[in-house]
Amino acid sequence: MSDSLHAAANKQFQQAADLIDLNPEYRAILSQPENEVIVNFPVRMDSGELKLFKGYRIQHNNVLGPYKGGLRFHPDVDLDEVKALAAWMTFKCSLVGLPYGGAKGGVTINPREYSDRELERLVRRFTHQLGDTIGPEIDIPAPDVGTNAQMMDWIMDTYANVSGPGGRQQLRGVVTGKSVEVGGSLGREAATGQGVLYALRHWCGETGQRLSGLTVSIQGFGNVGSHFARLAAKEGCLIVAVADHTATLHNPSGIDIPRLFDYARENRMIKGFDGADEVDTDDLFSIAVDAFIPAALENQITKDRADSMSCRVVVEAANGPTTSSGEDVLLSRGVDIIPDVLANAGGVVVSYFEWLQNQSGRAWRVDDVDTRLREIIWDANDKVVAMRAELSCTHRDAAYAVSLRRLADVYDRRGIFP
Ligand code: NAD
Repeated sequence: MSDSLHAAANKQFQQAADLIDLNPEYRAILSQPENEVIVNFPVRMDSGELKLFKGYRIQHNNVLGPYKGGLRFHPDVDLDEVKALAAWMTFKCSLVGLPYGGAKGGVTINPREYSDRELERLVRRFTHQLGDTIGPEIDIPAPDVGTNAQMMDWIMDTYANVSGPGGRQQLRGVVTGKSVEVGGSLGREAATGQGVLYALRHWCGETGQRLSGLTVSIQGFGNVGSHFARLAAKEGCLIVAVADHTATLHNPSGIDIPRLFDYARENRMIKGFDGADEVDTDDLFSIAVDAFIPAALENQITKDRADSMSCRVVVEAANGPTTSSGEDVLLSRGVDIIPDVLANAGGVVVSYFEWLQNQSGRAWRVDDVDTRLREIIWDANDKVVAMRAELSCTHRDAAYAVSLRRLADVYDRRGIFP
């Protein structure tokens, strides 16, 4: 297997392109990002020292609309990773019918090692350095691993301050995932986890079982994992194992998720929580459950871990959590995989709602956000199931096929400039 995440992402895309016999010109265009922006920028530390950071914004494709995708702050961020994540955004936005293309960005940094003041200076300088690369009609970032609503607020404020006095309302749409007080949408914070739960509920319908009573393990207890856990527990799922970067917790009778949620918010980790046993990192994968939810980083379900897994469905809340050989093992053992581009699309859907609210200057009620989110995610899941039946293929191939057909249809109509 190639170590390159972008090569792995391309392999998924090429496989589905073969299945639907995608026009080779569109295939060539979609196999590389349109723009690769790399910036090196200085930030003053609290100690007075000046440090140089490397940041990325990769714009994969914008045939459907402005580039859209998160910003990741993590020590492993590099060009290859961001290119893969940007491509997945194009396929995700197309799959769920949004008028957006795909992008992703990030900074190679461990944000836990910096003070809030240092992070604010870093976010503002990075935003300034990106300049016209981003904009409400150009490219719209959002939170991802290691970034949050506060950082989105700083991006918006920096962008608005250097953009001159006009268009203040619409300028807020330069970034989504903002705090509600400054133009964010109700329901955005929980949206990705909510979408993952809708995907799991849909799978229950496909396979004729009840959501309530399912046993679940979750890797990652950040934005996506913790909200998914909270909502799934409310629906009667039994969350028996949860891991983050500090610990893996197991309680066969079910972890008290509201209490763990509060504990993790307060301590910024799950280690030390007294309502479960701490077990080894790899034990998470071998615990028998109905559903396994990877909600941390890519390449977590390797071949060896897949060999040890005992579950019926993997719902990919994270992007790219299953390696190609891990996927082969799971599929050969009859485990369903609900792919990332479908499973975690809830976040970008509500980001789109936030952008619409910023454009119109009108805030939506949380009930409206949830109803429309459910409709869009449900419809995308229905389309993938229908495509699966048509092509006799996996969930992942079917999701890509739905997405690629829409992209090809738009290219057919628009043509290729000039
Ligand atoms: P986050 O930074 O809020 O949380 C990440 C979590 O993963 C943390 O709990 C961290 O401790 C845990 N983690 C990191 N390394 C780990 C390891 N080796 N083992 C176990 N846990 C580990 O990030 P997030 O926003 O929740 O994103 C998680 C995943 O979901 C990423 O793949 C991201 O791209 C994807 N995603 C996020 C959104 C969103 O709206 N935030 C939308 C779509 C997809």
